[in-house]
Amino acid sequence: MVAFLDLAKINGEVREQMAAAIDEVLSSGWYVLGKQVEQFEAEFAQFVGAKHCVGVGNGLDAICLALRAHGVGPGDEVIVPSNTFIATWLAVTYVGAVPVPVEPDPVTMNIDPARIEAAITSRTRAICPVHLYGLPADLPEINALAQRHGLVVVEDAAQAHGASLDGAPVGSWGNTATWSFYPGKNLGALGDGGAITTDDAEVAEKLRSLRNYGSSAKYVHELRGVNSRLDEMQAAVLRVKLSKLSEWNTRRGQIAQRYLEGLEGTGLTLPSVTDGVHSAWHLFVIRTERREELRGELDARGIQTLIHYPTSPHMQGAYADDFSPGEFPIAEHMQDRVLSLPMGPHLSLEDADDVVAAIRELTSRMEAEPPR
Ligand SMILES: *Cc1c(COP(=O)(O)O)cnc(C)c1O
Repeated sequence: MVAFLDLAKINGEVREQMAAAIDEVLSSGWYVLGKQVEQFEAEFAQFVGAKHCVGVGNGLDAICLALRAHGVGPGDEVIVPSNTFIATWLAVTYVGAVPVPVEPDPVTMNIDPARIEAAITSRTRAICPVHLYGLPADLPEINALAQRHGLVVVEDAAQAHGASLDGAPVGSWGNTATWSFYPGKNLGALGDGGAITTDDAEVAEKLRSLRNYGSSAKYVHELRGVNSRLDEMQAAVLRVKLSKLSEWNTRRGQIAQRYLEGLEGTGLTLPSVTDGVHSAWHLFVIRTERREELRGELDARGIQTLIHYPTSPHMQGAYADDFSPGEFPIAEHMQDRVLSLPMGPHLSLEDADDVVAAIRELTSRMEAEPPR
């Protein structure tokens, strides 16, 4: 049995510290926007290499508020990847702007900078690259394009806590980066949470107001804000888990290395690995023509896999009025072939070896048999 993810086991490693941190919040009598959030914001800003961090309620709100803080709204267009979790698109829609999808590079599976320029119009205000599966998007190219066209870059870093590019952490490249602390992310709370990091003091100040009813002083509301605050309990838990994040990410990297070496020559398409591009290995995603067969056989051996994501946003009912199937063939090609192997600090190297052995046996057998 190899579990895809085991949050109880991962959180169990810091159970005592988390219980103590929660107990401290309980005793403090202060539960929203207090000392824990302030300290977490300072610690996470330092981790990311950004000047400011603003805690919010979840990763979706983080993107919405970041766009609003940069003045993106009705009439504007925002470039997003055609293959991402739907949150990136929904955030653009929620602020009243239009998501303009751009296809990924088939090798990295991240938004293809070479295709961005053709999507830029006089209404384009921002580019929202996603570091999909933990792999940094091509930020040097994206930043250069943004500079040339006067656009804002809002990194959706929900899957990439700890990833880096040319030695600089993701989140320190764009104007602003947005984070999710959903329990299953590399840095996960015991519930919902999110944050925005930026070097821009003005944007940070606006975000502090926007997340709290558009208010910077009690009962003074200068903006039409929302209620989206990271709470003290989650911030206290996140501080404990942030202290373990590098160790946990190192373990993910070791599992990934085992998979990469073990699965070489199996005919599967493996994740892109390039010098200077350091993935956070949120997910380990392979691609195969015979996914359903492989997935079924792995499941029969107790090896859990998942699909991220089976349906691209443009093919979801939510966007049926604006897009049709066939419009983004690269995203559609991927959605039919991607398969996520077990990944996380809950795994041992022996677990990874078991996954490799099972896949090697199955792929060599499948090669000898025609597709069913
Ligand atoms: C998880 C995720 C989000 C949204 O985060 P929530 O905290 O669940 O709202 C946004 N973008 C991407 C790429 C994600 O993976």
